[in-house]
Amino acid sequence: MDQIIPYLKNSDHILVASHTNPDGDAIGSLIAMGLCFDALNKKTTLYNESPIPAVYRFLPAANRVVRNIKNQNYDLAVILDCGDLQRIGKAVSTVRQIPIIVNIDHHVTNTGFGHIQLIDTSACATAEIIYRLIKQMDIPFDKAIATSIYTGILTDTGSFRFSNTNRAAFSICQEMVGLGVDPYDIAQHVYGGTYSLGRIKLLNLALDSIKISNNGKLSIMTLSQDMFNETHTQAEDVDGLINYAKRIEDVKVAALIQENRNGKENSKDFKRFHVSLRSDGTVDVASIAASFGGGGHSIAAGFSIETTLSDITSQILKLAEKI
Ligand code: 5GP
Ligand code: MN
Repeated sequence: MDQIIPYLKNSDHILVASHTNPDGDAIGSLIAMGLCFDALNKKTTLYNESPIPAVYRFLPAANRVVRNIKNQNYDLAVILDCGDLQRIGKAVSTVRQIPIIVNIDHHVTNTGFGHIQLIDTSACATAEIIYRLIKQMDIPFDKAIATSIYTGILTDTGSFRFSNTNRAAFSICQEMVGLGVDPYDIAQHVYGGTYSLGRIKLLNLALDSIKISNNGKLSIMTLSQDMFNETHTQAEDVDGLINYAKRIEDVKVAALIQENRNGKENSKDFKRFHVSLRSDGTVDVASIAASFGGGGHSIAAGFSIETTLSDITSQILKLAEKI
């Protein structure tokens, strides 16, 4: 941590980025880091390739996050919540030209990319690491920073239910509440909203798609582009659907295969898929995802692959034989 701070303090033009299809930690950490650089009077761009999911648009400075960047002579890039640099999406080639890349993350599969790393796999969220960094730099926490940190920790711990929930999750969130964060207000924004009819219909199609391996230990849910078109839904509407596949009795690993909207189609059946994996805690899905070129946490991981639906489905079903 001490090693990283001079780089942050001595840079003037900073790009901060987090992973595509962002979750609450990716967005919360991005904004908290940006507000921290504001306090240091830096010129900062906040970047995420994907649109910010509606439930996170209440966050302060959410409208400052841009979806495109040009090479604007940044002297530092800070990459948040990404196991590898490719997770930021199309901006990879621009970011590679930035002289110093700082990698701040909590994923066990982090590749150690960049020039300087601040990786703590025991942190419940990247937001926990950003909290410590802001403390260490003696930057005062205002309500806006507190809201972003709180949201990152709340969502990445599944509201303090997942196995990554640690003492820091509670102590930091308690401190953030002391700074004016209203837990009910944030919970209403993140979890209390209504669903479009399309999302409910997508849930119906998703439940209908569930297949179970012969030994009953693995479930697969599949979402095709046709289903998204039919229900007028998008990536953020998929959030949480995998939990239905995970909660089936005897299932140890759940997989959600999602056909990508912008997938390159080399042939009619060859497409790009994102696969999400969840475990009941007895199987390490981070290493399974890593074996496909992805990564994540031991109980929640993912990867992308270009192949046919039948190929990826049978590759995943095969995994059941080993669990
Ligand atoms: P999800 O299934 O929700 O997309 O992701 C679950 C976890 O795995 C998250 O922590 C996410 O950052 C990580 N993850 C998902 N896809 C990838 C991937 O392609 N590469 C890496 N390194 N991590 C991923
Ligand atoms: Mn995270």
